Amino acid sequence: MHREPAAYYKVELTPPTSNFSNPLANETNWRGSTDSYVSQPAPPLNNYLSSPDPSEFLFPSLPLDSPPSGLDAFVGLPQQMMVHGVVQELPDIWPPLINEATLLPWIDVYFKRLHPTVPILSRSTLYHEMLMRKHRVDKQYGAMLLSLCAFAMTQPVQIHERASVPSRTVQARMMMEESVKMRVTADFGEYPTIEAVLSSFFLFACLFGANQHKAAWHRIREAVDLAGSLGIQNPESYVGLNSEQREQWLRTYLVLSVTERAYALQQRHSISFRGRPGFNARFMQAFDQTTAEDYISRLIYQDQADAVGMTGLLYLMETFDAIDETIVDCWNGHCQYTDGVCSSFDRRRALQMFRAQHKARDACLTGNMSFAPSATPLPLTQIAETQRADISITQMWLLNRLWSLCLSHSLLRDSSEFPELQFDYACHVARVTLAETNSLSLNAMEAHGVGFTEKIHDIAYGVLVAAQTCPQVAGALDMPLQAPEPDIVPLSAVLSSGFTQTLTTRQIIQGLDQLMREFRGGDHPYVQKFAVEMHNILGFQEPAPSLARSY
Ligand SMILES: [Zn+2]
Repeated sequence: MHREPAAYYKVELTPPTSNFSNPLANETNWRGSTDSYVSQPAPPLNNYLSSPDPSEFLFPSLPLDSPPSGLDAFVGLPQQMMVHGVVQELPDIWPPLINEATLLPWIDVYFKRLHPTVPILSRSTLYHEMLMRKHRVDKQYGAMLLSLCAFAMTQPVQIHERASVPSRTVQARMMMEESVKMRVTADFGEYPTIEAVLSSFFLFACLFGANQHKAAWHRIREAVDLAGSLGIQNPESYVGLNSEQREQWLRTYLVLSVTERAYALQQRHSISFRGRPGFNARFMQAFDQTTAEDYISRLIYQDQADAVGMTGLLYLMETFDAIDETIVDCWNGHCQYTDGVCSSFDRRRALQMFRAQHKARDACLTGNMSFAPSATPLPLTQIAETQRADISITQMWLLNRLWSLCLSHSLLRDSSEFPELQFDYACHVARVTLAETNSLSLNAMEAHGVGFTEKIHDIAYGVLVAAQTCPQVAGALDMPLQAPEPDIVPLSAVLSSGFTQTLTTRQIIQGLDQLMREFRGGDHPYVQKFAVEMHNILGFQEPAPSLARSY
């Protein structure tokens, strides 16, 4: 049921009580100078992982385009609520150490940089609810706000902001600790809310970025379990929700199912949202009595500002729709054997999966969706660059994952009438990946955090494995890799006209290696990991010579 917050919260202004300076108020950082954090030595990693001493908080530098704000309208205000005609004091649950005015620029970062790929909050509703001080009385809401800001601080770090990573990390960790503390109760989970689901999701994203994968796995499971308790995957649960809630639930369902599947493949975990969420989403139309229109189309175009974000999310949904629990089980080594052969993922199923991927790729290149036939979304080349980066590289990565699954199921051959079932298919996937990344700015790729470079690594590693497994590939490392006709990994129209240079397989490996070195200045585990793999598998000793990133 939708509440009108104004009826519940009454605001009285009192002077701020926070001891912490608002870095926005005077446009300086915590030490009072504009750049002193840059010269601070980075504290040891362990310091980031524990809750810091409040007296040592380092306010991270703000993104250059953050809105200036001297507003401190939230601090130290008593909460009151009208109950049965009597004004009652509400306990203030907000952590006294956090001045929420300092959160506003980070919320802005979320809407500018992350919302296009994770469009699960409404900007106007969020600001309205904050002004109504919902975060001061609603624990699940407050916890969501804190984890959202931690996510915005640590995920979309751009090159010119790299010096602020240590202070961002400390501040974000403190926010995560407060978020978890705020919402914990003995019966947490008994009364799930969408805010609780989103808090767990944002915590997952932060932990994922911090390379803490067991904790990250726990939080994505928690998000999916809470969402499952809400019934977010069941059309019947949407009856009685208002249109804004329905939209938020459906978007959250799509984001969670895409994330859960991607993470399951990355970390070899199982999935809870089974079947085909894209078709579930379409099925929900039948339960919406208020519209005769195509449900998905309406979701996309209801809010023009969000149309691009939703388009990207739906393209990702289409891409992951066929990666169901059977595929994930096989990927995790839980094959269903019949006479010693896996009956879940055979040659027929493999080709079916590749076809589904090609269909999803063609759909987004031409601007249509199989589960929303009447929608006319923007084609991939016309949506935001950050989304194009995510969608294109995720599609290449899924082709690489399917190829790996074929390898582990002994379905690959030196030559086959189906190019996807050949060893050298991994090289073609890498070739298109390099072309796609060369057409993208580093910022657009870095917005997706370390998970993006992990995908690049997996794709590059696929070529090493192909060379290790197949003498033909190993023997052709320095020969130009020609795209087969018709191309088995469709390029976008822009790329196919501009992508004329023929590279050798070795140059493709080196190009992807170089991208990993440039990504966040190489400050992630995959540069070293790939250097060791190149040495062990191909005997490469030296870092790749520098190649121009665009050609
Ligand atoms: Zn199998």
